[in-house]
Amino acid sequence: MFKTRKSSQLFKSAQNLLVGGVNSPVRAFKSVGGDPIFVQKGKGAYFWDADGNKYTDFVSSWGPLILGHAYPPIVSKIKQQAAKGSSFGAPTDLEVEMAKLVCHAIPSIEKVRFVSSGTEAAMSAIRLARGYTKRDKIIKFAGCYHGHSDGLLVKAGSGATTLGIPDSAGVPNSYSQQTLVLPYNNSQAVEECFNAHGEEIAAIIVEPIAANMGVILPQQGFLETLRKLTQKWGALLIFDEVITGFRISYGGAQEHLRIRPDITCLGKIIGGGLPVGAFGGSRKIMEHLAPIGPVYQAGTLSGNPLAMAAGIETLSQLKKLNPYKKLEKLTQKFIQSLQNEVQINQIGSMFTLFFSDQPVTDYTSALQANTKLYAQFFHKLLEEGIYFPPSQFEAAFISCAHDEALLEKISHKILKTLRSLPHA
Ligand code: PMP
Repeated sequence: MFKTRKSSQLFKSAQNLLVGGVNSPVRAFKSVGGDPIFVQKGKGAYFWDADGNKYTDFVSSWGPLILGHAYPPIVSKIKQQAAKGSSFGAPTDLEVEMAKLVCHAIPSIEKVRFVSSGTEAAMSAIRLARGYTKRDKIIKFAGCYHGHSDGLLVKAGSGATTLGIPDSAGVPNSYSQQTLVLPYNNSQAVEECFNAHGEEIAAIIVEPIAANMGVILPQQGFLETLRKLTQKWGALLIFDEVITGFRISYGGAQEHLRIRPDITCLGKIIGGGLPVGAFGGSRKIMEHLAPIGPVYQAGTLSGNPLAMAAGIETLSQLKKLNPYKKLEKLTQKFIQSLQNEVQINQIGSMFTLFFSDQPVTDYTSALQANTKLYAQFFHKLLEEGIYFPPSQFEAAFISCAHDEALLEKISHKILKTLRSLPHA
């Protein structure tokens, strides 16, 4: 029998000192039940918990670890930089090198600002859009998650949905009133919203491929409509590529889908496992930011040398390896045999198994999924040493460290697990 005694003890101590025993809510296993496992170390596609159990990891730290855990070239770059100093609060050449990599990879970004999280990136991108357009309202889509800044915690996906608090307490009504929430993949709703409020709308923020209500692909024409309408009404189009950036392709979802947003938010992969976010766009828009323009934004640890060193190495490796076609093939092969048992939304190396009878195309249909069944599935996998997201409403990820033989073995185990569930 699978033992997690030490993890449970650690969780008990943690609950006395940390709220809910965690520093980010979805780690607490609240929607799947049971105690979270405490991780001790990771290597490649695996990590080990405090009791010494080994898991194949499909969470990848929620997306960043596209090269796997403790990837040696990244570890060595972080060590080298740590020996030279971890923060200066003054510019370094690393920031210039990292900016070059980002701007070359994503042509819609001519200038970029680095921050320390995806939350900061999305929050600052919206402030910039408001400052640029001199308008207040924004459109977001139900079930999309753009971090936890006040105005974006409205019908938010990810942990907010998992815990049943998509509209957080503590957000003043006056803030959320500035956020117009529409259904994902519904072009008509967007058109009607612009007809009603067009001249007040500063920006649309969207996950070009949604991943925070589980993976949901944009339907043909949806993002094109967003592009057309924002241009028509003088609003900005913000792609939140915190998950999809350097995940769907080297140039992100915008390269894959061939749509150019005005502002792009990045995070996760660009930090190589360290805390980094970024937002960028045309020179004209970005120059509205301080110290050139009037939109204020700052950060003590922004462009942190350790994070930049990890990011530069990650992006350089991805540029060299160009693993995207291979990752997509591996993922498709991995899910192939599972598709008869459960609904799977997949693109590139990200996917979600939905325990649902109907196609999942937006927040409403995502919420129809059977979360109790997902919880059973999750725990059975855990006992098999397979770590899936502890929520139905999240993406699973395959990294460059998951090889074909490993994935084949795991796919058999998952198939067996699915067949053992009551209604699958
Ligand atoms: N945007 C998207 C699309 C995300 O998936 C996330 C985090 N999962 C964020 C923003 C917020 O990023 P962070 O957790 O780094 O603040």
